[in-house]
Order: sequence, then structure tokens, then C-alpha cells
Amino acid sequence: ETFPGDFSKNPIQRNTPKVLFSTIDPVGFDQPELIIFNEKLSEEIGLGKFENNDLDFLVGNSLPENLKTYATAYAGHQFGNWAEQLGDGRAIIAGEIINELGEKNELQWKGAGATPYSRHADGRAVLRSSVREYLMSEAMHHLGIPTTRALSLSFTGENVVRDMMYSGNPQEEKGAVVVRTAESFLRFGHFELMSAQKEIDTLQKLTDFTIKNYFPEITSEGEQKYKDFFQSVCTKTADLMVDWFRVGFVHGVMNTDNMSILGLTIDYGPFSMMDEYDLNFTPNTTDLPGRRYAFGKQGQISQWNLWQLANALFALIKDEKFLEDTLNSYGTYFWEAHDKMLCRKFGFNELKDTDEEFFSNWQGLMQELQLDYTLFFNLLEKINDISNAKTEFQKISYTFLDEVKLKKLENFLQIYKDRLEKNTISKNESLDLMKKTNPKFLLRNYLLFECIEEINKGKTEMLEKLTKALENPYEEIFPEFSAKRPTNYDDISGCSML
Ligand code: AMP
Ligand code: MG
Ligand code: MG
Repeated sequence: ETFPGDFSKNPIQRNTPKVLFSTIDPVGFDQPELIIFNEKLSEEIGLGKFENNDLDFLVGNSLPENLKTYATAYAGHQFGNWAEQLGDGRAIIAGEIINELGEKNELQWKGAGATPYSRHADGRAVLRSSVREYLMSEAMHHLGIPTTRALSLSFTGENVVRDMMYSGNPQEEKGAVVVRTAESFLRFGHFELMSAQKEIDTLQKLTDFTIKNYFPEITSEGEQKYKDFFQSVCTKTADLMVDWFRVGFVHGVMNTDNMSILGLTIDYGPFSMMDEYDLNFTPNTTDLPGRRYAFGKQGQISQWNLWQLANALFALIKDEKFLEDTLNSYGTYFWEAHDKMLCRKFGFNELKDTDEEFFSNWQGLMQELQLDYTLFFNLLEKINDISNAKTEFQKISYTFLDEVKLKKLENFLQIYKDRLEKNTISKNESLDLMKKTNPKFLLRNYLLFECIEEINKGKTEMLEKLTKALENPYEEIFPEFSAKRPTNYDDISGCSML
């Protein structure tokens, strides 16, 4: 059996042999204050409207009745290396709620206190990272991308010490708690932990539980059931990556402990939406100079992560050839789905043989002209007269477009126009396709930055505005949000704000 690392030489310390979790209560906070509550999500999952003392529950001061709250153990590969046992270090599961349609959602506090898996950390979360998670996970949901969601964001009333820039000069920041929801928070790392510790019985129970609850479409039995499960995780993961590429989302820390077994976007840390198109863009300052988790590498990295999951599931699927074939066809599936997605962005109704070359020329052009990824497609929708479009493109570029560059752009636009002629749908249908695929509003890093500054000063106007904008990302509600990143924010475009 192939396991990452040699455990006989390096036994893992853990508190929960043969089980996957430890019960733990949130620490509780004396002076909590609600910042924002997601009324729509609350109704959707069956919690109903916000009531007077709900804040106590939202920060973990009052606990659900007849239920023990808990944190789970998982493991993972971090930056390509086996990291042994990890776990919910600042997340505690508050239970599961079932709505009228029978849909189940788990609730988790993030930042409500230490757990047995916190190691030397404090189990707290700062306002900054909590605002980022709350808004971005909701933005992803409204973009139509599978994700964990956010129910509430509250101040804890307590300060937390963080050394954000690793300067040796830690600062106090306001502490916060987010309540997040998901059908399940299970990660690749949960399966890796059981496998690495050779607890195959528990691994099998966990996998059976996962399939029964979250993959009801799988009806096969025995080893075939586990094969179908792995195949399905591969497909969901590939589809998620294609969606990330569609909107320009860079996760920033695609460690296997941050990979959802359901193909959800999970663990919003140093993520960023991409402004200027750049395959090498990473918002994670701890990922330099390697750029393992750069925008353009996310397909490849997800495949590497699935290799680790395959290793973990090997005890249940003892068919190396199947696992290898499935992982190899992952690449084929991903690229085909990716190219079809690009077709929709450009308004092409089907993928043609010549498109691969067209796309790679386009990538070169975007990268060289430093064009804004999202605004580029918004502009393409509007271009009628190519020769008059130059000034419009200058507005969405992060560099000066000289005559040579403009000529290249003109050539490209002509080729694009010719390619559009090959469509077998009408011009309006093509435009419709573009409008459904290309967002008009993007929750850019600098907008989050401004919003956090305001909340810190006790203002919530920006928060309210961003919430409205992100709920309707395919419309232009606030024209001021349809511009490229202001130059005074160039510095933070590549900054992880963990
Ligand atoms: P991340 O890089 O955010 O995915 O975190 C990696 C691991 O560190 C996870 O097991 C987290 O639960 C844990 N962790 C991160 N921040 C904290 C914190 N403030 N307190 C306790 N555990 C943490
Ligand atoms: Mg994590
Ligand atoms: Mg995290």
C-alpha cells in the first residue's frame, strides 16, 4: 500500500483514536455584537427569521439543546508535503438543520474558540478574515459556484493578536465569529487521516456514510461503489475548477485539507479574484516564489490532490489501474470542460477544432496587454466597431497600450469577429450566453479591503452595498464597481490578508 510518508518512524499524536471528532464547546463571549445576518440563507435552510436572542447562538454563547458540539480531525498535504494530523482548529460544528424540503445543512462556528486540534493557535478569527469569508462565500454562491455559505458575522467583543505581515511586531485586531453552512464540511483530509493511520474500518464507515448521505445517485455495491464515488469526486472537483477559471477565482491554499469531498469551495483564506489576467497570479504571499497555487495551476493541482485522495481510498479500491485511468482521464475531462466554458465566455455555441489555437493566442494577448479579465469580456459584449474600440481597451488595461500592442489587439478582434460568424446561433443568443457566463460584478480584493476598513470604523454602508452587488453579479447595479482596480491598490492585489 502506498501512503505518503513513513508513519512507523513518525507516529502521529492525536486525541481521538479510531474516531473522527472530539466534542468541544465554544468558549463564549461577554460582549458580542452582530454585524450582518443572512436572512435569506436562514429561511432557505429552515432556521427562519432572526429573533432577539439569536445572537447568543451565533457566537456560541447558547448551544443547541440535546446535542454535543464537536470539532473533527483530518490530515492533509500542505504545499505538496504530508502534514500529518490537522483538524478543525478554529471551527466547531453546531449541528445540522433540515428544511421543509428535507435538505440538510451543517452549521459551523468559525473563530469561537480553541479545539483539541488547535495545536498552539488560539482558535480565534479576526474581523478581517471573517468579513472576507462571509462576503466571498456568498459572492461565489450567487455566481452559481458550489461553496460553503455564510449565515452571520459578529464581533466577539474581544481582541485577537496577529502578526499579519510576519514582521515580528504583532498587532491587536478585533475578533469575530462567522457561522457558516454546508451540506457537509468533509474534506479529502478526513479520508487521508484514516488511511494514513491504517484505520481501514473507520475509513470504510466514513466513506459509506459519505456516499449514503451525499451521493444518493450511487447505487452500486462492493468495490464498485467506492469506484463510482471516486469518479464522482473527480467530476465534481473538475467542474469546480472550471467554474473558478470562469470567474477568475484564485483559492490560494489548495492543500488537501482545504479540498471539499463534495466539490465545494471551502476555506476562504488568502483567496483573491483576479484583476489583470495572469496565469501566474497568486494572492498568497507564503506561496512565493514557487507559486504552487497560482491561478493557472489550479487544474493541475486539483489533480495532484485527487492523487492523494486515491492513495487514501486505495484500501477500499484495490485496483491501481482503475485509479490511474480515472486520474488520467481527469485531465482530458477538465480541459474539455474548460474549453467549452471559454466558448461560452466568448459567445460561441460550440467548440471548434481551431478554438484551441484561438484561446492560446488570446491568453498570450491578455497576459501581454495586462487586460482586466472580467472587464475584457464585458467590453467584448459591447464592441461593434473595432477601430473605435482602442480607448475602451486602454481603460481596462493595467499598462500603457502603445501602437504595437493596439495593432495586436485589433488583429485579435478581427479574428474574433470572424470566429463569431461561424456560430450557428443568432447574435442575440450569443450575447445572452456571454451575459450568463461573464459576471458584471466581481468582489475584488481592494473592495474587501475598503469594506473591512469601514467596518473597523463602525460604518456598514460599503458592506450593505457589496452585499447587494454580490447578490446580482450578472447585472451592473453600481457602475463604480465596473472599473479596474485603482492604482493606489496595486500593492494589495498580491497580498494575502489571512
Ligand atoms: P488553513 O491554512 O487555514 O487551512 O489552516 C490549516 C490548519 O490550521 C487547520 O487545521 C486550521 O484549523 C488550523 N488553524 C488555522 N488558524 C487557526 C487558529 N487561529 N487557531 C487554531 N487553529 C488554526
Ligand atoms: Mg483549512
Ligand atoms: Mg483557513
